[in-house]
Amino acid sequence: TNFTLREILELVIEQFQPIAEMKAILIKLMMPSDVCLTADRERIHQLCIIILDNAIKYTTSGTVEISCFQKSNNVILTVCDTGCGIPEDDLPHIFDRFYRGDKARNRESGGTGLGLAIAKWIVEAHDGKIRVDSEFGIGTKIQVTLPQ
Ligand code: ATP
Repeated sequence: TNFTLREILELVIEQFQPIAEMKAILIKLMMPSDVCLTADRERIHQLCIIILDNAIKYTTSGTVEISCFQKSNNVILTVCDTGCGIPEDDLPHIFDRFYRGDKARNRESGGTGLGLAIAKWIVEAHDGKIRVDSEFGIGTKIQVTLPQ
């Protein structure tokens, strides 16, 4: 089906707003209102939940910046956080099923390690790409490119 990504992102932001507020995280959304996508709406919704959930879960305070724009026939969605970041050694594994970064962070924040594996599966089922840039201690950027 055809839908705007903004309507989905607004729903997901609303859902995470209470947790973000408790943690003093400011969620920013920067995008034009008319970025359309023809895709599986439920799956894209799930994808946005996974990425935003991680951004908030692995950030103690600061900002989570979501931006979305259109470039040729692709939609590019970027989520940047100011969280704990991912150590370089973990980066090659974070899309693996059941992989969870060690360190103190996953003791506090429960999880299965399936989120990003599912995210990658959803993106690839739509012929898209997902990439991560992260600096340990600084923050993480997840970028999804989806054909319209
Ligand atoms: P769940 O799937 O239940 O959410 P999870 O968050 O551990 O559990 P993934 O979403 O697959 O699983 O993420 C895998 C690992 O990648 C995490 O355990 C964490 O170490 C790291 N990670 C993912 N997103 C971020 C982020 N925004 N900041 C820092 N680390 C992250």
